[in-house]
Amino acid sequence: MNARIAVIPGDGIGPEVTKEAVNVLKVIEEKFAHKFEFIELDAGGCAIDKYGECLPKETVNECKKSDAVLLGAVGGWQWDNLPGNQRPEMALLGLRKELNLYANLRPAMLFPSLANACPLKPEIIQGGLDLLVVRELTGGIYFGEKGIKNTDMGKTAYDIEQYSETEIRRIAHTAFSMAKVRNKSVTSIDKANVLESSRLWRSVVTEVAKEYPEIKLSHLYVDNAAMQLIRNPKQFDVILTSNIFGDILSDEASQIVGSIGMLPSASLADGNFGMYEPVHGSAPDIAGQNKANPMAAILSAAMMLSYTFNLTNEANAIETAVNSVLEKGYRTADLFCNEENTTLLGTKAISSVLCSLL
Ligand code: NAD
Repeated sequence: MNARIAVIPGDGIGPEVTKEAVNVLKVIEEKFAHKFEFIELDAGGCAIDKYGECLPKETVNECKKSDAVLLGAVGGWQWDNLPGNQRPEMALLGLRKELNLYANLRPAMLFPSLANACPLKPEIIQGGLDLLVVRELTGGIYFGEKGIKNTDMGKTAYDIEQYSETEIRRIAHTAFSMAKVRNKSVTSIDKANVLESSRLWRSVVTEVAKEYPEIKLSHLYVDNAAMQLIRNPKQFDVILTSNIFGDILSDEASQIVGSIGMLPSASLADGNFGMYEPVHGSAPDIAGQNKANPMAAILSAAMMLSYTFNLTNEANAIETAVNSVLEKGYRTADLFCNEENTTLLGTKAISSVLCSLL
C-alpha cells in the first residue's frame, strides 16, 4: 500500500512522541512492504512563533491532501497568556472543523501487566478492562456561540451548548457500528434531567438504536456515569457522549488504565480519513527530558493502520509489541512504581525495544 501521512508534532512532548510513532510506522513499512510518505507540518505554539498563527493554511491544505494525520500535542506555558482565540489549542478545534472530524474514538484498555498502575481495587478490574469512548467532536459547547458582556452583575461570560439532530444521529451511528464489532452494548451519557440539548440527544439516540436491534442501549446521566466509571468500569463497552462530557470522562477513564501516556485516539470524518493523536497534552513539565511515554502516540499510529488503511494485521502487530514491552517489565516514569522485575526506560529506549520486538 502507498499512503501519504501528514505528521504534526506540535509542542512540548509532541515532537518526542510522534518521532517514535513514525519510527514504529517505518518498521511496519519495511516488514509488511508498504510505502508511507511522511509530510511534517506545523500547528500549535510552534506555528504561532514561526508564522503568527496556530494553524497555518498550508497545514490544513497538506492535511487535506493526505490520507491520514498523525498529531502529537499542542500548547504550553509560553502561550498561556494569549487571548483565548489565539491560543495554540485553537489549532485542534480548527483541524477538527476543517477536516470534519466529528467522531472521536478513545479506547481505554488496561494491559494486564499494568494492573498495579490502576488506582482501583484489584477485584474491580479483575479480568481486565476494555471500553471505548465515542465522543462527538465538532459540535456542542466547544463550538457554540461564546462571548463576554457587561451586565449589572459585572462581566458575564457565556458558552452555548447546542446540538442538531444531524450531529447526534451521525455520531450515534458511529457508536452503534463500533458496538457491533465489540460487545454489543452502548451506554449513551447525557444530562437529560436538566439540559434541553441532552433531551434531544437522548431521543435521537433512542431512534437510531432501532436500526441496531442486536445492540443493547442504556442511558446514564453524566454525574452517575462519572461515579460508575470508578465503581464498576467493566459494565461499559461503548460509551457514546457529547463533546464536553466525552472530554472529561475519557480523562477519567485514562487514569483507570494506568496513565494518560497509554491512551490513543482517533478522530474520524466520513469515509476513511482520520486524525490520530494521543489523548494527553504537551506535558510541558517533562518536555525535552526523554521522559514521555510514547505508547499513546504509537497506539494512535496503530489505530491509523486499522481505521484508515484497514491494515488490521499491522495494527495488531504494534499492539502485541506494546504488550510484550510491558510484560518484559519495561516502563517509562509515569508507569514505574519500583515493582520487582521492572526497568525504567526513557522515551527513545522504550521505543527502540518496541521496534526490535516488532
Ligand atoms: P497533559 O496531558 O499535557 O499533562 C498532564 C500530566 O500528565 C502531566 O503531569 C504530564 O507530565 C503527564 N503526561 C501527559 N502525557 C504524558 C506522557 N506521554 N508520558 C508521561 N507523562 C505524561 O495535560 P495538561 O498539563 O493539562 O496540559 C498541558 C498543555 O497541553 C496545555 O497547554 C494544554 O492546553 C495542552 N493540551 C493539549 C492537548 C492536545 O494537543 N490534544 C490535550 C490536552 C492538553
